[in-house]
Amino acid sequence: MEEEIRNIFGQLKNLLLAEQEMRSEPPFIPSEVRSYLEGSVSAAHVHNHELAHPDSLEALRAFIGECTRCSLHKGRKHLVFGEGSPQARLVFVGEGPGREEDTAGRPFVGEAGRLLTRIIKAMGLTREEVYICNVVKCRPPGNRDPETDEIETCIPFLKQQLTIIRPEVVCTLGRVAGQGLLGANFRITLERGNWHSHENIPLMPTYHPAYLLRNPAAKRHVWEDVQKIMTFLGLEVKKND
Ligand code: URA
Repeated sequence: MEEEIRNIFGQLKNLLLAEQEMRSEPPFIPSEVRSYLEGSVSAAHVHNHELAHPDSLEALRAFIGECTRCSLHKGRKHLVFGEGSPQARLVFVGEGPGREEDTAGRPFVGEAGRLLTRIIKAMGLTREEVYICNVVKCRPPGNRDPETDEIETCIPFLKQQLTIIRPEVVCTLGRVAGQGLLGANFRITLERGNWHSHENIPLMPTYHPAYLLRNPAAKRHVWEDVQKIMTFLGLEVKKND
């Protein structure tokens, strides 16, 4: 009799445990993996962008590797990752490398880059103190604008750079960089000079230095915009500059 009761209790316990197991939360599957399992994104997408969270710029650069994720790799000499201080308080984001940047493997070293360097100096900073990078890391042929699919493939790496550096301000240069971080509705002429934000990081959009080379009259707008950044960062803004 005692044996029978023990068996019944044993079976009851097993039943309760089985039911508890069935009712408990399903195992956590990250949404990107679930999308992959459901077939709505490719394995490469999951592999390349969603699951990797390198926590240093070096690790991110190593993760990107000799990238062939979009067709821009076919015409590049160098992938231009970005340069400057990993502790930068200010990050400048351009569109993509031009011919000279592609040759040097460094961002903003051509004519527009020299103008950006002067802007940085006028702010009382050096290139080494800030960080400079681009929306796409390989040169679009003939300096055309990067295509939507090229931007979509590469921009997770820019966002990762910003997550790693976590600057106090991001300054986007031109329409492509503004749209990349603020969305396709961003309008450079209407919205430059106003504070926006990317992942809670204050973001100031301004004109691209290449635009200033073609339209020197717009320099005063850029100077107004960078003065707003300087005030925000507590840098000395000299009057009548
Ligand atoms: N223009 C850009 O947008 N980026 C560079 O690195 C150089 C020129």
